[in-house]
Amino acid sequence: MKYLDEFRDSVIAGQLIEKIRHLSAGVNRKLRFMEVCGSHTVAIYKAGIRGFFPDIDLISGPGCPVCVTSTRDIDRAVKLAGMPDTIVTTFGDMIRVPGSISSLQKKISQGADVRIVYSPLDALRVARENPAKRVVFLAVGFETTAPAIAATVLQAARENCGNFSVLSYHKVIPPAMKALLAGEEVLIDGFICPGHVSAIIGSKPYEFISTEYHLPAVITGFEPVDILQALYLMMVQIRENRPAVEVPYSRVVKPEGNPLAVRKLQEVFQPADAQWRGLGVIPESGLVLREQFVRYDAMRQFDLSVEEKPDPPGCECGLILKGLKKPADCPLFGRACHPRHPVGPCMVSTEGSCAAAYKYGRS
Ligand code: SF4
Ligand code: SF4
Repeated sequence: MKYLDEFRDSVIAGQLIEKIRHLSAGVNRKLRFMEVCGSHTVAIYKAGIRGFFPDIDLISGPGCPVCVTSTRDIDRAVKLAGMPDTIVTTFGDMIRVPGSISSLQKKISQGADVRIVYSPLDALRVARENPAKRVVFLAVGFETTAPAIAATVLQAARENCGNFSVLSYHKVIPPAMKALLAGEEVLIDGFICPGHVSAIIGSKPYEFISTEYHLPAVITGFEPVDILQALYLMMVQIRENRPAVEVPYSRVVKPEGNPLAVRKLQEVFQPADAQWRGLGVIPESGLVLREQFVRYDAMRQFDLSVEEKPDPPGCECGLILKGLKKPADCPLFGRACHPRHPVGPCMVSTEGSCAAAYKYGRS
Protein backbone atom coordinates (compact mmCIF):
# COMPACT_ATOMS: atom_id res chain seq x y z
CA MET A 1 0.00 0.00 0.00
CA LYS A 2 1.26 3.47 -0.97
CA TYR A 3 -1.28 6.07 0.08
CA LEU A 4 -2.60 6.97 3.53
CA ASP A 5 -6.24 6.48 2.43
CA GLU A 6 -5.53 2.78 1.93
CA PHE A 7 -4.65 2.51 5.62
CA ARG A 8 -8.18 3.75 6.44
CA ASP A 9 -9.95 1.64 3.81
CA SER A 10 -12.92 -0.20 5.32
CA VAL A 11 -12.80 -3.02 2.73
CA ILE A 12 -9.13 -3.78 3.46
CA ALA A 13 -9.87 -3.48 7.20
CA GLY A 14 -12.82 -5.88 6.88
CA GLN A 15 -10.71 -8.48 5.07
CA LEU A 16 -8.02 -8.27 7.74
CA ILE A 17 -10.59 -8.57 10.54
CA GLU A 18 -11.96 -11.76 8.98
CA LYS A 19 -8.46 -13.26 8.61
CA ILE A 20 -7.48 -12.38 12.19
CA ARG A 21 -10.73 -13.82 13.55
CA HIS A 22 -10.19 -17.02 11.60
CA LEU A 23 -6.60 -17.39 12.83
CA SER A 24 -7.39 -16.54 16.46
CA ALA A 25 -10.39 -18.90 16.60
CA GLY A 26 -7.96 -21.79 16.07
CA VAL A 27 -6.05 -21.01 19.28
CA ASN A 28 -7.53 -22.60 22.39
CA ARG A 29 -7.09 -19.61 24.70
CA LYS A 30 -7.48 -15.85 24.64
CA LEU A 31 -4.32 -14.20 23.34
CA ARG A 32 -2.96 -11.01 24.93
CA PHE A 33 -1.18 -8.49 22.74
CA MET A 34 0.33 -5.38 24.32
CA GLU A 35 0.91 -2.00 22.73
CA VAL A 36 3.56 0.22 24.34
CA CYS A 37 2.80 3.49 22.63
CA GLY A 38 0.28 6.12 23.68
CA SER A 39 -0.71 6.88 20.08
CA HIS A 40 -1.41 3.20 19.45
CA THR A 41 -3.57 3.16 22.59
CA VAL A 42 -5.56 6.11 21.27
CA ALA A 43 -5.77 4.65 17.74
CA ILE A 44 -7.06 1.30 19.06
CA TYR A 45 -9.75 2.96 21.21
CA LYS A 46 -10.70 5.43 18.48
CA ALA A 47 -11.19 2.75 15.80
CA GLY A 48 -13.01 0.45 18.26
CA ILE A 49 -10.63 -2.38 17.31
CA ARG A 50 -11.04 -4.27 20.60
CA GLY A 51 -14.70 -4.97 19.84
CA PHE A 52 -13.92 -7.04 16.73
CA PHE A 53 -11.91 -9.77 18.43
CA PRO A 54 -13.52 -11.90 21.15
CA ASP A 55 -10.46 -14.19 21.18
CA ILE A 56 -7.86 -11.45 21.58
CA ASP A 57 -7.23 -9.19 24.56
CA LEU A 58 -5.52 -5.94 23.55
CA ILE A 59 -3.75 -4.53 26.58
CA SER A 60 -2.01 -1.19 26.97
CA GLY A 61 1.46 -1.04 28.51
CA PRO A 62 3.82 1.73 29.61
CA GLY A 63 3.50 3.69 26.36
CA CYS A 64 2.94 7.22 27.56
CA PRO A 65 6.04 9.05 28.81
CA VAL A 66 3.98 11.40 30.98
CA CYS A 67 2.13 8.48 32.60
CA VAL A 68 5.28 6.53 33.48
CA THR A 69 6.94 9.49 35.21
CA SER A 70 6.98 8.59 38.91
CA THR A 71 5.32 10.58 41.69
CA ARG A 72 8.79 11.24 43.14
CA ASP A 73 9.97 12.78 39.87
CA ILE A 74 6.87 15.00 39.77
CA ASP A 75 7.62 16.05 43.36
CA ARG A 76 11.16 16.98 42.29
CA ALA A 77 9.81 19.18 39.49
CA VAL A 78 7.38 20.80 41.94
CA LYS A 79 10.28 21.47 44.35
CA LEU A 80 12.26 23.02 41.50
CA ALA A 81 9.34 25.30 40.56
CA GLY A 82 9.28 26.60 44.14
CA MET A 83 12.93 27.71 44.05
CA PRO A 84 13.70 31.45 43.76
CA ASP A 85 14.75 32.97 40.43
CA THR A 86 13.83 29.79 38.60
CA ILE A 87 11.73 29.31 35.47
CA VAL A 88 10.55 25.77 34.75
CA THR A 89 9.64 25.05 31.12
CA THR A 90 7.98 21.88 29.87
CA PHE A 91 5.48 20.36 27.46
CA GLY A 92 1.80 20.93 28.31
CA ASP A 93 0.66 17.66 29.86
CA MET A 94 3.27 17.64 32.62
CA ILE A 95 1.77 20.74 34.23
CA ARG A 96 -1.38 18.90 35.33
CA VAL A 97 0.15 15.66 36.60
CA PRO A 98 -0.45 15.49 40.34
CA GLY A 99 2.53 14.85 42.62
CA SER A 100 2.14 13.67 46.20
CA ILE A 101 1.01 17.07 47.53
CA SER A 102 1.06 19.52 44.63
CA SER A 103 1.46 19.87 40.88
CA LEU A 104 3.15 22.38 38.60
CA GLN A 105 -0.29 23.84 37.88
CA LYS A 106 -0.85 24.49 41.60
CA LYS A 107 2.62 26.03 41.85
CA ILE A 108 1.68 28.44 39.03
CA SER A 109 -1.38 29.54 41.02
CA GLN A 110 0.98 30.16 43.97
CA GLY A 111 3.18 32.42 41.84
CA ALA A 112 5.79 30.03 40.41
CA ASP A 113 7.08 30.76 36.91
CA VAL A 114 6.26 27.60 34.96
CA ARG A 115 5.91 27.95 31.19
CA ILE A 116 4.61 25.60 28.51
CA VAL A 117 6.91 25.36 25.50
CA TYR A 118 6.48 23.51 22.22
CA SER A 119 10.14 22.65 21.69
CA PRO A 120 13.27 22.50 23.85
CA LEU A 121 14.72 25.28 21.69
CA ASP A 122 11.91 27.53 23.01
CA ALA A 123 13.21 26.79 26.51
CA LEU A 124 16.71 27.83 25.45
CA ARG A 125 15.24 31.06 24.05
CA VAL A 126 13.57 31.72 27.42
CA ALA A 127 17.02 31.30 29.03
CA ARG A 128 18.57 33.81 26.63
CA GLU A 129 15.77 36.31 27.33
CA ASN A 130 16.08 35.92 31.11
CA PRO A 131 19.80 35.96 31.91
CA ALA A 132 19.19 36.70 35.62
CA LYS A 133 17.01 33.55 36.02
CA ARG A 134 17.81 29.85 35.99
CA VAL A 135 15.79 28.23 33.24
CA VAL A 136 15.18 24.49 33.47
CA PHE A 137 13.59 22.36 30.75
CA LEU A 138 11.69 19.44 32.25
CA ALA A 139 12.38 16.75 29.64
CA VAL A 140 9.89 13.91 29.50
CA GLY A 141 9.76 11.51 26.60
CA PHE A 142 11.10 8.41 24.92
CA GLU A 143 13.72 7.95 22.19
CA THR A 144 11.52 10.10 19.92
CA THR A 145 12.11 13.39 21.70
CA ALA A 146 15.58 12.75 23.18
CA PRO A 147 17.54 13.68 19.99
CA ALA A 148 15.90 17.15 19.93
CA ILE A 149 16.79 17.68 23.60
CA ALA A 150 20.35 16.53 22.85
CA ALA A 151 20.59 19.02 19.97
CA THR A 152 19.37 21.78 22.33
CA VAL A 153 22.01 20.93 24.95
CA LEU A 154 24.68 21.02 22.23
CA GLN A 155 23.35 24.40 21.09
CA ALA A 156 23.42 25.71 24.69
CA ALA A 157 27.05 24.53 24.97
CA ARG A 158 27.97 26.26 21.70
CA GLU A 159 26.44 29.48 23.01
CA ASN A 160 28.11 28.96 26.41
CA CYS A 161 24.66 29.56 27.92
CA GLY A 162 25.15 29.51 31.69
CA ASN A 163 21.55 29.71 32.96
CA PHE A 164 19.98 26.80 31.06
CA SER A 165 19.67 23.21 32.22
CA VAL A 166 17.64 20.06 31.60
CA LEU A 167 15.88 17.89 34.17
CA SER A 168 15.97 14.64 32.23
CA TYR A 169 13.23 12.11 32.94
CA HIS A 170 13.82 10.56 29.54
CA LYS A 171 13.27 6.84 29.22
CA VAL A 172 13.90 4.19 26.61
CA ILE A 173 11.29 1.61 25.73
CA PRO A 174 13.02 -1.78 25.06
CA PRO A 175 14.27 -2.26 28.68
CA ALA A 176 10.71 -1.71 29.95
CA MET A 177 9.39 -4.36 27.54
CA LYS A 178 12.12 -6.71 28.74
CA ALA A 179 11.26 -6.01 32.39
CA LEU A 180 7.61 -6.85 31.72
CA LEU A 181 8.53 -10.15 30.05
CA ALA A 182 11.14 -11.08 32.68
CA GLY A 183 8.73 -10.22 35.53
CA GLU A 184 6.20 -12.79 34.25
CA GLU A 185 3.49 -10.97 36.25
CA VAL A 186 1.52 -10.17 33.14
CA LEU A 187 0.96 -12.70 30.37
CA ILE A 188 1.95 -11.22 26.99
CA ASP A 189 1.68 -13.12 23.69
CA GLY A 190 3.15 -10.41 21.48
CA PHE A 191 4.03 -6.74 21.24
CA ILE A 192 2.78 -4.01 18.92
CA CYS A 193 5.99 -1.95 18.91
CA PRO A 194 5.89 1.86 18.85
CA GLY A 195 6.06 3.61 15.48
CA HIS A 196 7.85 6.88 16.25
CA VAL A 197 10.31 5.38 18.73
CA SER A 198 11.22 2.74 16.14
CA ALA A 199 11.80 5.41 13.47
CA ILE A 200 14.73 6.47 15.68
CA ILE A 201 16.05 3.15 17.05
CA GLY A 202 15.09 0.77 14.21
CA SER A 203 14.04 -2.84 14.70
CA LYS A 204 17.18 -4.45 16.15
CA PRO A 205 16.60 -3.42 19.81
CA TYR A 206 13.41 -5.55 19.85
CA GLU A 207 15.06 -8.76 18.66
CA PHE A 208 15.26 -10.18 22.21
CA ILE A 209 11.45 -10.50 22.11
CA SER A 210 11.62 -13.20 19.43
CA THR A 211 15.04 -14.71 20.18
CA GLU A 212 14.85 -14.88 24.01
CA TYR A 213 11.09 -14.98 24.63
CA HIS A 214 9.90 -16.59 21.36
CA LEU A 215 7.15 -14.03 20.91
CA PRO A 216 6.07 -11.97 17.92
CA ALA A 217 6.78 -8.23 17.71
CA VAL A 218 5.46 -6.00 14.95
CA ILE A 219 6.39 -2.34 14.41
CA THR A 220 3.41 -0.55 12.95
CA GLY A 221 1.79 2.81 12.28
CA PHE A 222 -1.27 4.53 13.65
CA GLU A 223 -4.06 4.04 11.10
CA PRO A 224 -6.70 1.32 11.62
CA VAL A 225 -5.27 -0.87 8.83
CA ASP A 226 -1.75 -0.49 10.35
CA ILE A 227 -2.99 -1.88 13.66
CA LEU A 228 -4.96 -4.69 11.98
CA GLN A 229 -1.94 -5.59 9.86
CA ALA A 230 0.13 -5.89 13.05
CA LEU A 231 -2.46 -8.19 14.63
CA TYR A 232 -2.66 -10.28 11.48
CA LEU A 233 1.14 -10.68 11.25
CA MET A 234 1.35 -11.65 14.92
CA MET A 235 -1.42 -14.21 14.47
CA VAL A 236 0.37 -15.72 11.45
CA GLN A 237 3.62 -15.91 13.43
CA ILE A 238 1.84 -17.63 16.31
CA ARG A 239 0.01 -20.11 14.09
CA GLU A 240 3.21 -20.91 12.14
CA ASN A 241 5.35 -20.91 15.30
CA ARG A 242 8.02 -18.63 13.86
CA PRO A 243 8.40 -15.58 16.14
CA ALA A 244 10.15 -12.58 14.58
CA VAL A 245 10.31 -8.80 14.53
CA GLU A 246 8.40 -7.55 11.49
CA VAL A 247 8.17 -4.00 10.14
CA PRO A 248 5.07 -3.44 7.98
CA TYR A 249 5.49 0.29 8.84
CA SER A 250 8.37 0.49 6.34
CA ARG A 251 7.02 3.79 4.98
CA VAL A 252 8.48 5.38 8.15
CA VAL A 253 10.68 2.84 9.97
CA LYS A 254 13.95 1.53 8.55
CA PRO A 255 15.60 -1.51 10.17
CA GLU A 256 18.61 0.64 11.09
CA GLY A 257 16.44 3.51 12.41
CA ASN A 258 17.84 7.02 12.16
CA PRO A 259 21.60 6.74 12.84
CA LEU A 260 22.12 10.52 12.87
CA ALA A 261 19.47 11.03 15.58
CA VAL A 262 20.89 8.11 17.59
CA ARG A 263 24.42 9.61 17.36
CA LYS A 264 23.16 12.98 18.67
CA LEU A 265 21.31 11.24 21.48
CA GLN A 266 24.38 9.20 22.47
CA GLU A 267 26.68 12.22 22.28
CA VAL A 268 24.74 13.97 25.04
CA PHE A 269 23.01 11.19 27.00
CA GLN A 270 24.09 7.91 28.56
CA PRO A 271 21.86 5.10 29.86
CA ALA A 272 21.06 4.98 33.58
CA ASP A 273 18.67 3.11 35.85
CA ALA A 274 15.30 4.89 35.98
CA GLN A 275 12.17 4.67 38.07
CA TRP A 276 8.93 4.01 36.15
CA ARG A 277 5.50 4.44 37.65
CA GLY A 278 4.11 0.99 38.28
CA LEU A 279 7.22 -0.84 37.08
CA GLY A 280 9.77 0.35 39.68
CA VAL A 281 13.43 0.85 38.87
CA ILE A 282 14.43 -0.67 35.52
CA PRO A 283 18.17 -1.02 34.77
CA GLU A 284 19.52 1.15 31.93
CA SER A 285 16.05 2.41 31.03
CA GLY A 286 16.69 6.13 31.56
CA LEU A 287 18.81 8.76 29.84
CA VAL A 288 21.02 11.09 31.89
CA LEU A 289 23.40 13.78 30.65
CA ARG A 290 27.01 12.71 30.17
CA GLU A 291 29.70 14.06 32.50
CA GLN A 292 30.91 16.71 30.03
CA PHE A 293 27.42 18.27 30.08
CA VAL A 294 27.11 18.33 33.90
CA ARG A 295 26.56 22.12 33.91
CA TYR A 296 23.34 21.50 31.93
CA ASP A 297 22.13 18.71 34.23
CA ALA A 298 19.51 20.14 36.62
CA MET A 299 19.54 16.93 38.67
CA ARG A 300 23.16 17.67 39.62
CA GLN A 301 22.91 21.47 39.70
CA PHE A 302 20.00 21.72 42.18
CA ASP A 303 19.13 20.01 45.44
CA LEU A 304 16.15 17.99 44.23
CA SER A 305 16.05 15.43 47.03
CA VAL A 306 12.47 14.57 48.01
CA GLU A 307 10.93 11.85 50.14
CA GLU A 308 9.48 8.82 48.36
CA LYS A 309 5.67 9.09 48.67
CA PRO A 310 2.92 6.71 47.53
CA ASP A 311 0.85 7.30 44.38
CA PRO A 312 -2.52 9.08 44.81
CA PRO A 313 -4.88 6.99 47.01
CA GLY A 314 -7.15 4.72 44.98
CA CYS A 315 -5.34 5.39 41.68
CA GLU A 316 -4.60 2.20 39.72
CA CYS A 317 -2.25 3.81 37.15
CA GLY A 318 0.64 1.56 38.22
CA LEU A 319 -1.36 -1.61 37.51
CA ILE A 320 -2.78 -0.18 34.28
CA LEU A 321 0.73 0.66 33.00
CA LYS A 322 1.76 -2.95 33.65
CA GLY A 323 -1.23 -4.26 31.73
CA LEU A 324 -2.65 -5.90 34.86
CA LYS A 325 -5.80 -3.76 34.92
CA LYS A 326 -7.86 -1.73 32.48
CA PRO A 327 -9.08 1.82 33.08
CA ALA A 328 -12.65 0.73 33.83
CA ASP A 329 -11.31 -1.56 36.60
CA CYS A 330 -10.31 1.54 38.58
CA PRO A 331 -13.12 2.49 41.01
CA LEU A 332 -12.34 6.20 40.43
CA PHE A 333 -12.63 5.99 36.60
CA GLY A 334 -15.26 8.42 35.32
CA ARG A 335 -16.33 9.23 38.89
CA ALA A 336 -13.74 11.01 41.05
CA CYS A 337 -11.28 10.87 38.14
CA HIS A 338 -12.04 12.38 34.74
CA PRO A 339 -10.14 14.62 32.31
CA ARG A 340 -11.23 17.84 34.03
CA HIS A 341 -10.22 16.46 37.43
CA PRO A 342 -7.53 13.82 36.87
CA VAL A 343 -6.44 11.88 39.93
CA GLY A 344 -3.59 10.07 38.16
CA PRO A 345 -1.39 10.77 35.13
CA CYS A 346 -3.14 8.19 32.89
CA MET A 347 -6.16 10.55 32.89
CA VAL A 348 -4.03 13.68 32.32
CA SER A 349 -2.13 12.85 29.19
CA THR A 350 -4.02 12.68 25.91
CA GLU A 351 -2.02 9.48 25.24
CA GLY A 352 -2.89 8.01 28.63
CA SER A 353 -5.00 4.83 28.76
CA CYS A 354 -7.60 6.29 31.09
CA ALA A 355 -8.02 9.50 29.05
CA ALA A 356 -8.34 7.44 25.83
CA ALA A 357 -10.84 5.04 27.43
CA TYR A 358 -12.85 7.98 28.82
CA LYS A 359 -12.96 9.77 25.47
CA TYR A 360 -13.48 6.84 23.10
CA GLY A 361 -14.31 3.70 24.98
CA ARG A 362 -15.59 3.87 28.56
CA SER A 363 -14.92 0.12 28.72
S1 SF4 B 1 6.13 9.56 21.14
FE1 SF4 B 1 5.18 8.48 19.45
S2 SF4 B 1 5.95 6.39 19.61
FE2 SF4 B 1 6.36 7.41 21.55
S3 SF4 B 1 4.66 6.90 22.82
FE3 SF4 B 1 4.19 8.87 21.92
S4 SF4 B 1 3.10 8.37 20.10
FE4 SF4 B 1 4.06 6.48 20.73
S1 SF4 C 1 -9.03 6.37 36.34
FE1 SF4 C 1 -7.78 7.98 37.28
S2 SF4 C 1 -7.34 7.26 39.33
FE2 SF4 C 1 -7.98 5.51 38.11
S3 SF4 C 1 -6.11 4.63 37.28
FE3 SF4 C 1 -6.88 6.05 35.76
S4 SF4 C 1 -5.84 7.96 36.23
FE4 SF4 C 1 -5.58 6.67 38.04
